[in-house]
Amino acid sequence: MTTVLQTISAPRGFVEKTALESYVPPAKPSLMGLSRDKLADALGTIGVPEKQRKMRVQQLWNWLYVRGVTRFDAMTSVSKELREALEAHFTLERPEVVAEQVSVDGTRKWLLRLPGEHAGERPHEVECVYIPDSGRATLCVSSQVGCTLTCSFCHTGTQRLVRNLTPGEIVGQVMVARDRLGDWPGGSAPEGAIVPTDGGRFVTNIVMMGMGEPLYNFEAVRDALLVVQDGDGLGISKRRITLSTSGVVPYIARAGAEIGTMLAISLHAVRDELRNELVPLNRKYPIATLLDACRNYPGVSNARRITFEYVMLKGVNDSMADAKALVKLLKGIPAKINLIPFNPWPGSSYECSDWEQIEKFSEYVFNAGYSSPVRTPRGRDILAACGQLKSATEKLSARQRMALRAMAMTD
Ligand code: SAH
Ligand code: SF4
Repeated sequence: MTTVLQTISAPRGFVEKTALESYVPPAKPSLMGLSRDKLADALGTIGVPEKQRKMRVQQLWNWLYVRGVTRFDAMTSVSKELREALEAHFTLERPEVVAEQVSVDGTRKWLLRLPGEHAGERPHEVECVYIPDSGRATLCVSSQVGCTLTCSFCHTGTQRLVRNLTPGEIVGQVMVARDRLGDWPGGSAPEGAIVPTDGGRFVTNIVMMGMGEPLYNFEAVRDALLVVQDGDGLGISKRRITLSTSGVVPYIARAGAEIGTMLAISLHAVRDELRNELVPLNRKYPIATLLDACRNYPGVSNARRITFEYVMLKGVNDSMADAKALVKLLKGIPAKINLIPFNPWPGSSYECSDWEQIEKFSEYVFNAGYSSPVRTPRGRDILAACGQLKSATEKLSARQRMALRAMAMTD
């Protein structure tokens, strides 16, 4: 008789990249993105007496996030002595911009360089995308280098290297966008830039939909978004910030309680069997569990709906039966449905649904009472989908990169 050996392991096909690199702070760290408490601690380390710290934090906060200064010596209300001490121990550095691309529709992408773990190794790169639209402009922010997860239609999921971003690197993306857009007192937008013209800020909304799974970098994302929301600083209200997750159920309630932003769920399929394939995390947290977490999301109501993202994959999840099942599945949950045309990448095994099919699907969902805006693909001329700027520019020489950029600008 033969014995059949069975391996009991993680749910079949669920691959989670756990070998995270850690962040090694530079000798002179940046003050960017520190909470008020951590900023006070940093001041403590350079000898600012405890009873002065709160007032100093308030001063610095204003210079950092209202005025956007990049040098300590610009902080004229701070004593020369303290400015020198700050200069000797800290920086106001943001992530370094290594490429900027501007699309004809006004979309801007910045490729940012971040330090790696080991000296001499290739630095890490993430991207950040600016999407202006009538009356608003949304910044799509990354939370990890690469992603811990492996969704089969997502290019970021194929990237091997993973590192969590620090709060400073997350807040730093907002700072970079405002720097590049000239959106600080006394600044002005670059010539020809498309930005809101109502006299308000040039970045009005934030979506955590860049590279990475934000709920697998929970603390840093939380701390960063609290800085971004702070009314005495960047002041982007939590109603204008959306955190998108592939469904890390245990952190959904915490996100509601501790961050309080709007929530988006990358659903993409209505049956566990298919979702297991598209979003392998579903093997750990299946649809029913995920939807329960949504029903219990703090503050969810008709005025504060959860967005369900649904990527349109030809012949995979785009049938009318899927549309019907989707409506049925979301019954009772205050929801919006965002249909996203699949953005193909070299080597991907999916195709985007036909436009006609997307319209039919969208109409069904709309008639069932859901607003279902189809997210128009933006910045196609500069490869705007998640993870693609990085992969494309990695293969290009500096000259080709320039050409690509020029093409994007003159198309
Ligand atoms: N990790 C988080 C947030 C980043 S991805 C999440 O998965 O929600 C942001 C959104 O882009 C997700 O809905 C994701 O499913 C979608 N997406 C990823 N790759 C895509 C592609 N090639 N085409 C269209 N949408 C894509
Ligand atoms: Fe990660 Fe989101 Fe891409 Fe899935 S879709 S691999 S969770 S970035």
